Amino acid sequence: NATVGGMDAYRAMCKAAEQDYEGFWARLADENLSWSKPYSKVLDESNAPFYKWFTGGELNVSANCLDKNVANGLGSKTAIVFEADDGKVTNVSYSDLLAKVSRIANGLKSLGVKKGDRVVIYMPMSVEGIAAMQACARIGATHSVVFGGFSAKSLQERIVDVGACAVFTADQQVRGGKQLPLKNIVDEALAMGGCEAVKNVIVYKRTGQGAEMQAGRDVYLEDLVAKQSDQCEPTIVDSEHPLFVLYTSGSTGKPKGVQHSSAGYLLWAMLTMKWTFDIKPNDVFWCTADIGWITGHTYITYGPLAVGATQIVFEGVPTYPNAGRFWEMIQRHKATIFYTAPTAIRSLIKASEADEKVHPKSYDLSSLRLLGSVGEPINPEAWMWYYKNVGHEKCPIVDTFWQTETGGHMITPLPGATTLVPGSCTLPLPGIMAAVVDEVGGDLPDGQGGILVVKRPWPSMIRTIWGDPERFKKSYFPEELGGKLYLAGDGAVRDKDNGNFTIMGRIDDVLNVSGHRMGTMEIESSLVANEMVAEAAVVGRPDDLTGEAIVAYVVLKGARPDGEQAKEIANSL
Ligand code: AMP
Repeated sequence: NATVGGMDAYRAMCKAAEQDYEGFWARLADENLSWSKPYSKVLDESNAPFYKWFTGGELNVSANCLDKNVANGLGSKTAIVFEADDGKVTNVSYSDLLAKVSRIANGLKSLGVKKGDRVVIYMPMSVEGIAAMQACARIGATHSVVFGGFSAKSLQERIVDVGACAVFTADQQVRGGKQLPLKNIVDEALAMGGCEAVKNVIVYKRTGQGAEMQAGRDVYLEDLVAKQSDQCEPTIVDSEHPLFVLYTSGSTGKPKGVQHSSAGYLLWAMLTMKWTFDIKPNDVFWCTADIGWITGHTYITYGPLAVGATQIVFEGVPTYPNAGRFWEMIQRHKATIFYTAPTAIRSLIKASEADEKVHPKSYDLSSLRLLGSVGEPINPEAWMWYYKNVGHEKCPIVDTFWQTETGGHMITPLPGATTLVPGSCTLPLPGIMAAVVDEVGGDLPDGQGGILVVKRPWPSMIRTIWGDPERFKKSYFPEELGGKLYLAGDGAVRDKDNGNFTIMGRIDDVLNVSGHRMGTMEIESSLVANEMVAEAAVVGRPDDLTGEAIVAYVVLKGARPDGEQAKEIANSL
């Protein structure tokens, strides 16, 4: 039986939220979070749109993910099944992970990192990357994870903006059989200037190659933790304490540091694991995202651990050593829930059409009971292929609409309850007051396309843009819509018959390429930073594989006869 048992139960939950909004959230918070000090107020709207949740309450997020489960007898349960790029598998139990996180937390403390400090994490997919995030949470340091594919310049901008005092990285990352530098990129970023607040770089030895260590600043993770105790008392923080800042693209040049809270964020990570993924004690959950994105935060580092689940963490890429890797891993680890992005599905459809051996039918996928899609719209053809070939027409697909700013799922089918419609993310979760409005914030009738908004604050919403509260207000609670509606930045329409939402794409200058958000202005400013370029304009165009593709028009300062400049400029991005 699914956690939310059927449409009637879903409707009753929605009704409960409408009738007593604070009571609804209070009950859920009491059932799910372990408090060190109880909260005194559920929702403080006195300084809207800077909403506060569970004020007066205190807790520690890492203790809610690890200590709680160990205390509840799950110490020897596998928390993480880690599969390396080369196929090597390591199992990490809840007790192992708690010890690892505690050692790193003590290591951070020994470097002088304390509550409220910011730590940038530029790591490959690894148990160490997850443990570094949890260790920050344990001591009340705010982490900011930067995706390992980002350039030195992007990394430097984020280090400067967030004011990091330490950076976690690895000597190299290994993906698709290739070793790629990480530590060198950190060195390059720090040398660009403005990063003087960074006192230490902590380096995880992934390959043992390619890292030049700077004495006094750089330390290997294994040396840092060697003498540390595996016990670390969690630092208790306020409900609203910033657990992390995660940068995402906006419609203007500079990326936005989306600041999330502790209690409200964790609550929604747990509830969506239960409601959307219907997580059960024997599940083997696999989210293929990277910890550099919000999906990796909520559905790898926090959600699955907070509910005591077993999850697969994968270092590599879906096409190595061949495009059957995902299916082979589902078979090997008997995954029951699989959550991935439409772009990955589309590329694997292509590969399996070309080679039967990597087609899902060549693998035993009978362990699966639920599939998920995230990050971008899933086209009905890809949905049908996924449903038939991966789910064998018995696994529901949860097409989850959400954003970096929302912290967790917003609009999604619930397994066993919602009638699935390929290409539609269907209905808002209980407590999420999503609606479609016109340009002045007026409700639109079903069937009419408009602007997607959320009418009431919810616990895991963005709290502010790091260091820029004015931009937060303007971007998400614009006066044009009356200043009270959360503006998602997407267009949407509701179906006349069943109220289902279909997302119609961004209404701002943000592109979605393979599920990754990119601002056109951001790309334009990197283009004009190239000395060959005088002016640049960027637009998106539909692409069968990546959803959207970037098209850049540039005016050159001077054209060369060899015709190679377009390629060189594209490569320099
Ligand atoms: P990000 O914050 O990078 O996760 O990007 C969020 C954006 O991705 C949203 O504003 C949407 O434009 C798009 N998106 C995410 N999930 C979906 C989905 N299930 N269907 C359609 N678009 C989606």
